[in-house]
Amino acid sequence: MNSDSARSREALEELNQRIIACEKCPRLRQYCREVAAQKRRMYRDWDYWGKPVPNFGDPNARILIIGLAPAAHGANRTGRMFTGDESGNWLFQTLYEVGLANQPTAVRADDGLELKDILITASVHCAPPANKPTPGELANCLPFLLETLQIVENWRVMVALGRIGFIQTLRTLKEAQIPHAIRQSSFAHGAELQLPGGRWIVCSYHPSQQNTFTGKLTREMMRSIFTRAKALADG
Ligand code: SF4
Repeated sequence: MNSDSARSREALEELNQRIIACEKCPRLRQYCREVAAQKRRMYRDWDYWGKPVPNFGDPNARILIIGLAPAAHGANRTGRMFTGDESGNWLFQTLYEVGLANQPTAVRADDGLELKDILITASVHCAPPANKPTPGELANCLPFLLETLQIVENWRVMVALGRIGFIQTLRTLKEAQIPHAIRQSSFAHGAELQLPGGRWIVCSYHPSQQNTFTGKLTREMMRSIFTRAKALADG
């Protein structure tokens, strides 16, 4: 590992520790704790994580995934992004198929899953009731996304999952003073939006059960997104 890689890894670890300790959104913190205490019956033997969920993946990644938020009984239970729920099953199967993950499954935080050249972050790091963060909560969590972008400085492509992930991505670009002429209405599955310096945003439907069960998002559609993201990252 060269010294730049080691620095990024250290900086990301330090940021992750601050994310885990964050208490900025009382409504979300209370909700995550309540879910962790009550548990779903099928997970009653689990010791739920119940805290903000840190970034997960390669600190030197060229591809970033901007998701919505941890799922109440998924990442809020396991402590790792997209781990332990149906959305994650879809996502990690796809990442494995296109060579961005070492295994197709994500069951628990110590299951050996490693991401290559990709890092997963979120619009908010705490599970929100009904998967709906408020504008204030999105604003509270924005600085973490901005810092993530600054630390993972090799990034070439941001894959925004769902409209909220896309809007949060645009806000972050504004905060980072990255000039662009992209509008919120540009969101569509497969839309590619170019940024200065050969960087890109790629939009995708979120692999929520609402989208995957109804066929709005198919496995082929998801594979195309990440195949294309890899090609854009390669220039
Ligand atoms: S959503 Fe983000 S800002 Fe709000 S408490 Fe969780 S980690 Fe902190």
